[in-house]
Amino acid sequence: MLGKMMYRPLTISSLIEHAGRYHGSTTVTSVETSGEVVHSNWGEVERNARKLSAALARLGLETGDRAATIAWNNRRHLEIYFGVAGGGFVCHTINPRLFPEQLIYIINHADDKVLFIDATFVPAVAKLREHLPNLQHVVLMGPRDEAAAEQIEGLLFYDELVAAEDDSCVWPEIDENLPSSLCYTSGTTGHPKGVQYTHRTNVLHSLGGNQPDGKGLAARDTVMAVVPMFHANAWGVPYIAAAVGCKMVLPGPHLDGVSLANLIDSEQVTIALGVPTIWMGLLQGLAETGSNAETLKRTIVGGSALPTVMIPTFRDKYGVELIHAWGMTETSPLGTLNQLLQKHDDLSEAEKGAIREGQGRPPYGVELRIVDDEGTLLPEDGETQGNLQIRGHWIIDTYFKADSTALTDDGWFDTGDVATINADGYMIIRDRSKDIIKSGGEWISTVELEDIAIAHPKIANAAAIAARHPKWDERPIVIAVLAEGEALSEAELLDSYKGKVASWQIPDKVIFVSDLPLGGTGKVLKNKLRDQFGDALLEA
Ligand code: AMP
Repeated sequence: MLGKMMYRPLTISSLIEHAGRYHGSTTVTSVETSGEVVHSNWGEVERNARKLSAALARLGLETGDRAATIAWNNRRHLEIYFGVAGGGFVCHTINPRLFPEQLIYIINHADDKVLFIDATFVPAVAKLREHLPNLQHVVLMGPRDEAAAEQIEGLLFYDELVAAEDDSCVWPEIDENLPSSLCYTSGTTGHPKGVQYTHRTNVLHSLGGNQPDGKGLAARDTVMAVVPMFHANAWGVPYIAAAVGCKMVLPGPHLDGVSLANLIDSEQVTIALGVPTIWMGLLQGLAETGSNAETLKRTIVGGSALPTVMIPTFRDKYGVELIHAWGMTETSPLGTLNQLLQKHDDLSEAEKGAIREGQGRPPYGVELRIVDDEGTLLPEDGETQGNLQIRGHWIIDTYFKADSTALTDDGWFDTGDVATINADGYMIIRDRSKDIIKSGGEWISTVELEDIAIAHPKIANAAAIAARHPKWDERPIVIAVLAEGEALSEAELLDSYKGKVASWQIPDKVIFVSDLPLGGTGKVLKNKLRDQFGDALLEA
């Protein structure tokens, strides 16, 4: 007989089993919704997750059924990540900042059977409940709470569900190609689209993305996941932390600079991950508290472009290295991460700094290319810009419940980003072919904002664009043309957004013009508007 190697499936439960067995006493710190700081450990997370998987089977969930979360980063959410996926179900993490109509659409489209919620979201979910006919159970992430029970009929309690199960339950055997998690992206026009990950893609993303030149977490680290657990699996950090067994800090609902600075000091955080807005807030928080973030060595920054001044500020003032990364919900999310090569050793600090401003290089497991609008390959010379495409072990093929693949004929995923790539594979995002606005790491659809403005009887035409913003990176502004002979104030137009979009999506400013620049096919030239008005909020 020819030789043969053992086959073991790459499953989410294998990650948490490892953490429970070999790092059981390592701390998991959780800031609860109440503000209380609770110290748990990987042993307890594993035990509770395993019991949760048994509880979900007892509630009648079948393999592949979706169980959703609307929750902050905390220990129960972590247990749900592993308990749901490890039990053979699909953990559907939902962005709580979405508008009610979008929440209803997503929960119904995903056909969620169970919804786990933090106390914060009880009133909101109570209002949605009647619009969610297929949802069987709502579970409050905490102990029994009579006041909450009065608001949502049949409400179950997480702690009771877990306590009812016997410690001796075991993880089921699961095929690594089964789905494990689901995340909707609103990064495109129209309805949000679901990206369904498998056990295998998540495990490969965790291993491939955590090489020393990648996220580089080790057992001796204390990692703080500031990136929300509802955003692309918190960039895979929960899985990676379990695989390496490092201490983990889950910061709960308060992500302001002072709260984070205090948490970094009290929990001795060594590495943290989040969007640029978070780190701008942290700079203020450090100044306010007088903390030096003594233990913090690295932060991984992505989700939108890292403002270049932040790299030297963090390095020179606090000795913290900012590592720029790029990815998408569709790419699990890690696509590139910026580390230097040996050949850069002799460069000056300024030259090294210039390289580090870009989005970085792909780790083993993904490949990038740039093409023109006809799909022709473009040179990787660091100057030619093209449509950025990606393929690899953890990249989407087909959106959830979509009829056809999202890939090109030759099997690549078009990211909608416009980029350059140089001969060493360093990629820089130059623009977005999609015109959507990204405020504080969250998408705002320009189409929706334009629809509302244009629907106003005194408005002839309108375009929503991203204006640069010192805190949120981008904020929406509206460039509007009044209908013939009409008068309307900025405040009146902004009033018409109330109740139609979430309050944080309402534009910051309206600029009235006599006409909008139009291209050959009659489309508004957004680039021109951005050039002209992109700094409108900075000037203010
Ligand atoms: P999401 O699916 O919400 O994570 O959004 C993915 C999109 O965010 C990408 O296609 C980019 O347009 C943008 N993005 C993510 N990371 C970066 C980055 N480091 N620099 C610039 N844009 C980024």
